[in-house]
Amino acid sequence: MKALTFQGIGDVKVTDVPKPAITGSGEALIKVTLGAVCGSDMHILHGHTPMNQGAVLGHEFVGVVEEVGSEVKRFKAGDRVVSSFFTSCGVCAFCRKGWFNQCVDKGTFGHGEYFGNLGGGQSEFVVVPLADHSMEPIPQGMTDEQAIFVGDILATGFFGAERAEIKPGDVVAVVGAGPVGLMATMCAQLFGPARVLVVDMVDSRLETAMDLGGIPINAKLVNPVEAIRASTGGFGADASIECVGLLTAVDTAVQAVRGGGTISMVGVPSTTIGDFPYMRMWLKSLTFRAGWCNVQAHMRPLLDLITAGRLTPDRIISHRMKLDQAEEAYRMFDAREATKIVLTP
Ligand SMILES: [Zn+2]
Ligand SMILES: [Zn+2]
Repeated sequence: MKALTFQGIGDVKVTDVPKPAITGSGEALIKVTLGAVCGSDMHILHGHTPMNQGAVLGHEFVGVVEEVGSEVKRFKAGDRVVSSFFTSCGVCAFCRKGWFNQCVDKGTFGHGEYFGNLGGGQSEFVVVPLADHSMEPIPQGMTDEQAIFVGDILATGFFGAERAEIKPGDVVAVVGAGPVGLMATMCAQLFGPARVLVVDMVDSRLETAMDLGGIPINAKLVNPVEAIRASTGGFGADASIECVGLLTAVDTAVQAVRGGGTISMVGVPSTTIGDFPYMRMWLKSLTFRAGWCNVQAHMRPLLDLITAGRLTPDRIISHRMKLDQAEEAYRMFDAREATKIVLTP
């Protein structure tokens, strides 16, 4: 089958690899109908996330079940499904507490042997282990483009917004208008804020943020912290959602909130350690939350919100390409020439 594989830092290629097969009773073989390119793929491309040569890329995908193992109960051949970008068992101590992203059996798709040795979704087929707990059925009438982001970036945007503790009437600052920031902009509005301010430096992304109900702040033209303070009578935002991961963005998210406010960080950190403003956190009674998304907790409600028309994640798709063009898709996404790219095998 065709798949996008990692060849080395800065080098990915569409190659022919063996079609994966079910080897465990809890697994499902999925015929991929749509995959997506994600910011995390760029971390692999640039060598910030370790990856073995030849491994299949892609962790955002939807498809049709081709075959299931004997113990899979929720799915059968022919079902349309969306998968989380990671697997979870549903029965370990972490899963029983609802923290599926801490599962002892967790593996991440499209991240090679360092993260559970799973396959990837930028391919024609992928095996999903722990299928009953790692996938959700796609509701009838919902398109692949509507469903695909439930397994990663939409869930991440929701997770960030929920943990920002937004109250009706609040002012929220979203830092970063990449795909996750745009999802956070949309999800924040589910919690009833008066305004959602969105900080970025790329005009096209700020335009999309505006289309999704955000108020753009161009950090290329103004100091974002000052702009946020100026628009809140000098107080600052009630909550901020950090969607970049660079320490400068985290710093903006911390400085943007008023005393007693909450910072919710979902951007993948670009460094492992940095200065933490302990005194400021203490003086201003701030709450700081960080984490990568607990996807499996949110997939079902997010699918219901899309069905109801209250979330339209597919609106951020800027480019539709074939899997054969994946190398070019990576180049474009890396160069910020595309907001979000989906790939059809
Ligand atoms: Zn992703
Ligand atoms: Zn578990």
